[in-house]
Formats: sequence, C-alpha cells, structure tokens
Amino acid sequence: MHGIRIGRIFGIDIAIHVSWFAILALFAFSLATGFFPAVYVWHPAAYWIVALIATLLLFVSVLAHELGHSLVALRQGIPVKSITLFILGGVASIEKDPASPGREAILAGVGPLVSLAIGVVTFALAQVLPGPEYLVAVLFYLGVANVSLALFNMLPGFPMDGGRVLRALLWWRSRDFLTATRRAAGVSRIVGYGFIALGGYQLLTASGLSGIWLAFVGWMLLQASRASLQQAQLEHELEGVTARRLATAPRVWVPPFITLNAARDYFADQPAPCLPVEAEREGEAYDGALCVSDLERTPRPEWDSARARDAMTRAGDIPSVSPETPAIEAVRLMAEQGVSRVAVIDAGSLLGFLDREGTFRFLQRRRALGAPGV
Ligand SMILES: [Zn+2]
Repeated sequence: MHGIRIGRIFGIDIAIHVSWFAILALFAFSLATGFFPAVYVWHPAAYWIVALIATLLLFVSVLAHELGHSLVALRQGIPVKSITLFILGGVASIEKDPASPGREAILAGVGPLVSLAIGVVTFALAQVLPGPEYLVAVLFYLGVANVSLALFNMLPGFPMDGGRVLRALLWWRSRDFLTATRRAAGVSRIVGYGFIALGGYQLLTASGLSGIWLAFVGWMLLQASRASLQQAQLEHELEGVTARRLATAPRVWVPPFITLNAARDYFADQPAPCLPVEAEREGEAYDGALCVSDLERTPRPEWDSARARDAMTRAGDIPSVSPETPAIEAVRLMAEQGVSRVAVIDAGSLLGFLDREGTFRFLQRRRALGAPGV
C-alpha cells in the first residue's frame, strides 16, 4: 500500500494512505457530534477542536501499536519497510514470517499489549486528574478506544494479531507451520462469517452504517484468511527452491536495433513470452526484456520502424536476484513491485528470467507429481 510519507522513525518510513483522511473525518465527526456532547457542555467549536485532537492522538496510539510490532520484528532480524495509516487503522509492512512459534507469538502479541498499556494509563489519568475538562475528556476517550483496539485485535482471525497468536499456539503444538495456518485460517473464517451475520442482523434491525461496516470487516477477514493460507502454502511448496531452478535460460537473444517486424520471427520458434535484448554497451548483462505483449501493444503500422529497444522493458525496471536467492523471495519481490518477472543475474551475466507464469507452472507440476524425493 502506498501513501504520503510523513516521516521516519527507527529507519522505518511512516506514511499516510489517502483513505486515512476519510476515517479521520468520520471519527472526528462522531466524537464532535455524539461522544463529547453526550457528556460535556462546551462551546460548539470546542467540540470540534477537542474531537480533532483526540482523533489525531488516537492515530498516534495506532502508530505506537504498529511501532511495537516493528521494533520486535527488527530485533528478530526481520526487515520492516514502512508503517502506513489507512482506513482500517495501521499496517506495518514486515517482510517475512518469524522463524519460530515463540517469535511469532511475541511479534503478534506486542501490538495489543502496547494498545492495552496506553489504554490503561490514559484511562487511569482520566480518573485521577482533576481537570481541565477538555484534557480529561481526551484521556478518557483514548482509554476506551485503546482498550477496545487491544480487544478487537486479539480476535482470533487473520489479519488481526489474535489470528497470528492463535497460529503461533497451533504451530507450537503441531510443530507444522502449514497445518497451523490451515487451522487458524479455519477459525478466522468462522470469525469472518460471524461478523457478516452480525452486520446483516444490524442492517435489518437498526443502524445501517455500523451493519455495513461489520459486514465489510467480516469480508476482509475472509479475504485475509485465504491470503494467509495461500502464502503459507506457497512458502511450503517453494521451500529450498532457489531462483536458479525457476529461471528459464533464453534460447535466443534479440539485437537491440532490429525492427519489431524482424523481432516477431524470434518469437515464432520458441515458447518464452519474453526474450532478453542484447546489451549495447560492454559490461552490461542485458538491455531489457522484449515480450510478446510489447509487440501487441505497438500498433502494427509501426512495426516497420519501431525497434526492439524502443518497445522493450528496460533492464533498470526489472528487479534482479542472484541465482541462490530463495524463489519465495523472488515471488515476494514481483508482488511488491507489481511486475511479472525478475532477472536472475549470475556474476554479471543474465542466467534467465523467472516469471509468474513459469513459477505457477512449476507449482502445478509439483502438485501433480509431488516434490522429488518426498
Ligand atoms: Zn497489531
């Protein structure tokens, strides 16, 4: 998820997704028109100012929750790229899964613990501080909101932290990551359907907006449990497979200056959807990848004049990995950068491309035939 970068803490980019402004407005609105007026008698403008401050502080708490996850991840040697605030709260992009159930339980559990701690402290302060009233109101709200956040996050469903804590427990008991994920995803689905049913019930009986929101959260849970399971399955199936094994060595290379009309013949007698384009300069591994789709994209009348180097994807835009990189890392890289291939570079020369299609075919074949020696 991309957002507007607002700063950097402990080497982690902090960003805000555009959807966050919608939830900021919604929260501030409900505080200014519902929560505060129900308890306090203030000047109308004061409701809005205090509401905005309280909402911003709530998001600082959400940031602290995500920082909790991130710092534990960094300590476990797992890179953290960024933390993004968006419509459903915050998300830290933690690059991979922890290596053991204990580590996963700590990594997932620390977020709700941070929220709980903030909630208890602010709630206690709201009880003991004599005033001013605005401050007490904000602290009280932060107390309630953070404790709710901690409880909500401990629900046993993906992508919530509780789902991961549950998986860690099952993983610890079964000593098998895939089985544990399968079971945790099953529980997660039940929680998801529960939310949808609750949302449907609310829609029928009373408040439409919260019913839609609950159903939406339920739908997110179903999506996330499926994604977690697919991810675990993929990691399991690609375990021990290196990029070298999945790279397809090119049978032919395309010279950079030939026209697309001439390049078409290169695709005629070999099956690869993309071919490397020879480097113009000495010392470069290759100049780019020319794909069937590049030809399709170029209008036919231009095939006589357009050259391979004009239509290709430049090497600079194709991520590269070394032959010994785990294949799962290459798959992650493709997903992250939204590309369908990576270049496998061995000591400065191109070994071949590893693409989504080839990886998919490899997995299909493995499912059909079984892994060698298993
Ligand atoms: Zn969390």
